[in-house]
Amino acid sequence: MKSIFTFAICCLAFTISHAQLLHKKKDFTRQDTLRGSITPEREWWDLSYYHLDIKVEPETKTISGKNTIQYKVLQPYQVMQIDLQPPLELTKVTQNGEQLDIKHDGNAHFVTLKNTQKIGEVNSVVAYYEGQPREAVRAPWDGGISWKKDKNGNHFIASSCQGLGASVWWPNKDHMYDEVDSMLISVNVPEKLTNVSNGRLRKVEQKDDQTKTYHWFVNNPINNYGVNINIGDYANFSEVYKGEKGDLDMNYYVLNYNLDKAKTHFTDAPKMMKAFEHWFGPYPFYEDSFKLVEVPYLGMEHQSSVTYGNQYLKGYLGNDLSGTGWGLKFDFIIIHEAGHEWFANNITNVDIADMWIHESFTAYSESLFLDYYYGKQAASEYVIGTRRSIQNDRPLIGQYNVNNEGSGDMYYKGANMLHTLRTMVNDDEKWRQILRTLNKKFYHQTVTTQQIENFLAEETDLELTGFFNQYLRTTIIPVFEYKIENKTLKFRFSNTVEHFKIPLLINIDEKEHWINPTNEWKSIKIPSANSSISVNNNFYIKSLQIKS
Ligand SMILES: [Zn+2]
Repeated sequence: MKSIFTFAICCLAFTISHAQLLHKKKDFTRQDTLRGSITPEREWWDLSYYHLDIKVEPETKTISGKNTIQYKVLQPYQVMQIDLQPPLELTKVTQNGEQLDIKHDGNAHFVTLKNTQKIGEVNSVVAYYEGQPREAVRAPWDGGISWKKDKNGNHFIASSCQGLGASVWWPNKDHMYDEVDSMLISVNVPEKLTNVSNGRLRKVEQKDDQTKTYHWFVNNPINNYGVNINIGDYANFSEVYKGEKGDLDMNYYVLNYNLDKAKTHFTDAPKMMKAFEHWFGPYPFYEDSFKLVEVPYLGMEHQSSVTYGNQYLKGYLGNDLSGTGWGLKFDFIIIHEAGHEWFANNITNVDIADMWIHESFTAYSESLFLDYYYGKQAASEYVIGTRRSIQNDRPLIGQYNVNNEGSGDMYYKGANMLHTLRTMVNDDEKWRQILRTLNKKFYHQTVTTQQIENFLAEETDLELTGFFNQYLRTTIIPVFEYKIENKTLKFRFSNTVEHFKIPLLINIDEKEHWINPTNEWKSIKIPSANSSISVNNNFYIKSLQIKS
């Protein structure tokens, strides 16, 4: 109580403009720009197909092989940027069998093409590489390759590279804006191990040198960080889910000795599919199937091969993030990471600064899962409970063009922003249709915050400019100020950006009333000078009574 009061006093009675709130820019390097922007050496070509063909050698922790990069020429240009992070070495790039000149610049490599690149042509280059890739420090947050062993001493290996970039383990165009249309992932491993990647297993080739090559084909656009390898002593089971688009293959790859446990525990996966198809529409990758793959780290939203390391526990490693008890009703990793199939894999941000589009909707999907099985009250308690982890340290949106993420508040502040918006919409069926239409309209696309803002404003028929500016671009929380004078309630918003106005649901003597506060004082009649006033707690705002 005290803290809210102090906070409100400091910020009373003025509005704050955008510019004042943008935090001081961090220093970014040329490498950040090369990684995070659509450079001229990237812009002229459009990715169409990758064939990543590699050999993974656990004993020496090395990867070697090549990536065939097929592309369509959009503009005539002769220099192509390919990204690959040291200590891996880009040893050679060829086009039509001819070796090309490479200028190395840190993680970026500029390849000069010999043949004139004509608009509309589909060409390809082959990038050869080898070495010991960066080992993951704390996967998946500080990623790379995790070279681990299972309890039986077998190799247990996995890639994770969100933020850091897929170029930490294979050469590619490492920017979110351009997704490849399809991809073949061929991985050669010691014959006792299995490699699981994205999409469907096309074939397994037995080689003479006691190795096997697994060929996985992805038949849909995929973002780079979604591509993964998972290598271990896997057992496998599957089921066919009767979904909105027909039969969906759901496959589960787990360590051999966890098979029985997984068969019981992974029943959360079809439950997830049912709830999310209801809320968001059909699973976006039927052609590629859905997989859960056990890994030696917590988990990641790898497209059509969601990785799992939540120790077969409910909650987040057995903990309830909301503190309400509802978080122990589901396996956090199965629900959260699979929620990303719609938000991150289907709808993908162009720039990682807009990563709230991935995390806010997905964090809110946890609540929608509960809503489907336990009702709206449970779902609301959960999302409101997660407010305890909000820091309000930095805005949700990061800096553009330098591969910079916004605040970790993109999870639970973002989820509460969406819950606030749903409450403003005040029609749950309409809200569900908005989420479904969102996934349809931006199906398999990369998008900007502005596109999502425009879409939501149009579909909800609400003026949302101030709303999004406030919650996405500042760290300040609106305050509903009110005072009671005789039988009149006076109210306004303070601590807001300019033009912040939202419909607000308040309780007057336990009865619900919609009001439309702005930064100007307004008043309405109330039953008595002793009437009780409170803001509906589904709104993520603060309230402050001013005693006259
Ligand atoms: Zn996430």
